[in-house]
Amino acid sequence: LKYSEEIAKRKKLYNQIQEAKGNIRVFCRCRPLSKQEVSTGHNAVVDFDAAKDGEIGIMNGGATKKSFKFDRVYTPKDNQADVYADASPLVTSVLDGYNVCIFAYGQTGTGKTFTMEGTEQNRGVNYRTLEELFKIAEERNETYSYNLSVSVLEVYNEQIRDLLATSPSTKKLEVRQAAEGFHHVPGIVEAKVENIKEAWDVLQAGSNARSVGSNNVNEHSSRSHCMLCIMVRAKNLMDGVCTKSKLWLVDLAGSERLTKTDVQGERLKEAQNINRSLSALGDVISALATKNNHIPYRNSKLTHLLQDSLGGDSKALMLVQISPSENDLGETVSSLNFASRVRGVELGLAKKQV
Ligand code: ADP
Repeated sequence: LKYSEEIAKRKKLYNQIQEAKGNIRVFCRCRPLSKQEVSTGHNAVVDFDAAKDGEIGIMNGGATKKSFKFDRVYTPKDNQADVYADASPLVTSVLDGYNVCIFAYGQTGTGKTFTMEGTEQNRGVNYRTLEELFKIAEERNETYSYNLSVSVLEVYNEQIRDLLATSPSTKKLEVRQAAEGFHHVPGIVEAKVENIKEAWDVLQAGSNARSVGSNNVNEHSSRSHCMLCIMVRAKNLMDGVCTKSKLWLVDLAGSERLTKTDVQGERLKEAQNINRSLSALGDVISALATKNNHIPYRNSKLTHLLQDSLGGDSKALMLVQISPSENDLGETVSSLNFASRVRGVELGLAKKQV
């Protein structure tokens, strides 16, 4: 029992520290100007002078500058390893029994997918996370036995799609609460993975399935939330105690507002659903901050799915992605405002509306 007591003690201590600091971290990452932006002469409007202190400045035209403060600010020079290094403590806490959620928020084209998925040469958070989980599980194999499984979901127009399913589900996929309290989606594939190679193959399969049935893959993925769930089952080999924890890695739909000419038909419905789920996410975080008795998790599929990993003693990390270009100024400021309100939660500066 000693080991479980030790873990319980560590958790308690950690919770005390967290309570003082809050459970939501907000990191801001700015992508480089694209080749096209450079060739068409777009100016960068982001000032990184105080980036080391977590500050980012936005030139609002002329000499006016608006500053925002986050837990970390990554300039276009920072690489994938820099971002992962700061996310890593959250990832490893999943192996200690915490539920965790890491999500990338921002306008389409700002690097959400680059940060989360990355490329084969430039691996993102998803790959690095799995790699580290397997590495630590191996290091601890004399005291713990870990089992990892992966599910890959997409939420599009408030409908959940299982990207690992071999055939389309005949039943509508819904979030349910299991007897032990965990939320899950009955019927979805939970692929057991034993090493990084197997895990990567599963992620690739999920990614490929995303494009099936859509005419324009990029457009489709910018309008849906891509959600990777890693379930960790741990058995303490000393006292036999078993625990289960969950890590969500989420590439959110683009947060941009529509231009008036776009607002029609299917596109309007998509946009309303995206707005609804992103504001639901803000509302949940806000309700948690004000210690509201009712946390409105059920207002969107996104928040309902994330329920176990938002609130309680779980830990969340928001990566707000922005563009440096003057052309995106409006969306950039709007993303930074949203992220600042989310971060206000951490400082205990709860605001009513997020
Ligand atoms: P989103 O998922 O937000 O729509 P993407 O991840 O598709 O955005 O990024 C848009 C483009 O910008 C891609 O070509 C991507 O490779 C590039 N990009 C994004 N962030 C970075 C970065 N930090 N460094 C280099 N290229 C980046």
